[in-house]
Amino acid sequence: MESNGETESSLSRSNGGEDRRVGLIFDERMCNHSAPAEEDHPECPDRIRVIWNLLNSSGLAKRCIILKARDVEDNHLALVHTKKHISLIKSISSGNSDSKRSRIAAKFNSIYFSEGSTEAASLAAGSVIEAAEKVAKGELDSAFAIVRPPGHHAEEGEPMGFCLYNNVAIATSYLLNERRDLGINKILIVDWDVHHGNGTQKMFYKDPRVLFFSVHRYDSGTFYPSGHDGSYIMTGEEPGAGHNINVPWEHGRCGDADYLAVWDNILIPVAREFNPNMIIISAGFDAAIGDPLGGCCISPHGYSIMLDKLMEFAGGKIVMALEGGYNLNSIATSARACVDVLLLGKAPNVVSEAYPFASTWLVIQEVRRELSTYWPVLGGELPEKMIRKTIQIGILSSDSEDETEDIALAVPEEVRTIEDVIQPLSNLKIDLDSQVGQEATMKPSWRSEHSKVDVWYATYGSNMKVPRFRCYIEGGQIEGMMRPCVGSMDKSEPKGIIWKTFPHRLFFARERTATWGPGGVAFLRPNSNVQEKTYLCLYKITLEQFNDVLLQENCLNLETSHPLFDSAALQTIQTEKSFSVELVQGGWYHNVVYLGNEGDIPVLTMTCSLSNVDDFISGKFPINPPCKEYANTLITGLVEGKQLSEVEASAYIQEASSKPL
Ligand SMILES: [Zn+2]
Repeated sequence: MESNGETESSLSRSNGGEDRRVGLIFDERMCNHSAPAEEDHPECPDRIRVIWNLLNSSGLAKRCIILKARDVEDNHLALVHTKKHISLIKSISSGNSDSKRSRIAAKFNSIYFSEGSTEAASLAAGSVIEAAEKVAKGELDSAFAIVRPPGHHAEEGEPMGFCLYNNVAIATSYLLNERRDLGINKILIVDWDVHHGNGTQKMFYKDPRVLFFSVHRYDSGTFYPSGHDGSYIMTGEEPGAGHNINVPWEHGRCGDADYLAVWDNILIPVAREFNPNMIIISAGFDAAIGDPLGGCCISPHGYSIMLDKLMEFAGGKIVMALEGGYNLNSIATSARACVDVLLLGKAPNVVSEAYPFASTWLVIQEVRRELSTYWPVLGGELPEKMIRKTIQIGILSSDSEDETEDIALAVPEEVRTIEDVIQPLSNLKIDLDSQVGQEATMKPSWRSEHSKVDVWYATYGSNMKVPRFRCYIEGGQIEGMMRPCVGSMDKSEPKGIIWKTFPHRLFFARERTATWGPGGVAFLRPNSNVQEKTYLCLYKITLEQFNDVLLQENCLNLETSHPLFDSAALQTIQTEKSFSVELVQGGWYHNVVYLGNEGDIPVLTMTCSLSNVDDFISGKFPINPPCKEYANTLITGLVEGKQLSEVEASAYIQEASSKPL
């Protein structure tokens, strides 16, 4: 073993002094796939360069066996992709102008193309095959393919989510179908990218030879790639039943303790039963601390423990393939930690004092219950003794007993249903060197302050139907909604309901919502126009409740230490008219608009920004009529509110859906 390049973390270990045989693949040509120059795209070529550079500068690369990237063969692509898909990706580089490439890319969900895309995609897929084949043959113990474009979102017939070919699925299918001679007949795919591996899931959904495990942010189906494929109820079909395991986080900020709890209580016991003879990791590092898209906080050490726990299986035959990860520093240090583990065969021994979120235990319990028919090892409730023991440590090391109640308050209602588990779990503390831990334990003092201020919340969409609006206060769902609301922390009913018309334009845009499914949702044009007349139903609620509705409308968790729209903002908005809520990145209703006063109480609504309106006009985001259930909810709201007859209400919605902006 060379000592010069050793990282600090490996010094405390002894493994007999021998590095394991670890393959590494990197090829600069995979950097030729890039977004148009004017676009500052997170899936950028430097992602793989920074990993490669750090592995070299830290001395780890020279302890590995460097493999040559190779192109993928068409017949191997065809194991998981359609002919049409393959010819599309192959045609991108040849004879297309940049503008034509952009037009083609625009047809897909989160895809860009450049002249180098065809080659980069081919090398990414071919390189994962190369790594997997060498490990399967026993020429290597393990390997890390530092590839891009990533693959796990790519579906059978379409590229999506920055992914062109599904690299991991192709390599998996290649070993299982084309190289039966190598004896690999059970592959565990661990997808720890922060996003659900929708493409990979579908490709092996009925295949019992593949155990697909994905832990990802789900946020009630609103987190990319959105929809319900990432739900824990998606467990596989036919012979593959039970061979698809999703662990869906309901919020961000999950870190080492949350992931390791999932490993110990779901993945590892099932892996032991499944007994794979190869593990392929869809190794995205976008759940790492500091990632701009993921919002989770796994540390490099967390990744090394997650990887280490997998090394007891398949004789340590592990192939890692890069997927996402958009903070250059985080992905490089996380990748280095993983290569270090692959070389040494074990992770550094670091004591962690972190504990999972209470909601993590609930997700784990749900997944275990759902899968216990297929995996009896997951049967029975979580060993409470173990949990309580963990809690006692949490209490002992907690510096304030007052935290207990505050964290319990911060747990959404749906999560508080199993009181006897949650009460003790609410003592858990998070111990990470980010503000995340503080956020989870901070007393949300803004709530009491903002519960004393009243506002009129003026609604123009489905909230015009009172029972639907009450879901945002009390929790629950009404007919037509695809998912329930968690409700506000303060579930007191509105102090008043009145109707008014305002000179703003109502319109419908976007493609689908998590709540109503396909179809546009209602927006109010932020600037007023005397030619327009829109009916709004006003609810008198507290500023605290208004914040909770705003959080829910923007698919955010209520566990926040700061209000999105505070009393200072309420002061400002009365002169500025509108207030953009900067915290709601990517939220659709991030613009709070002041509509004047009713009595001496300000009237507020929430809608899109003016720049979003420009995007709807230019066609960047689609204008779309509402789906039937959603439209009916608006219509019945107007009728029950005695504003319009059913015929008039239908015509009103119809006009708003069809009149050009
Ligand atoms: Zn991702």
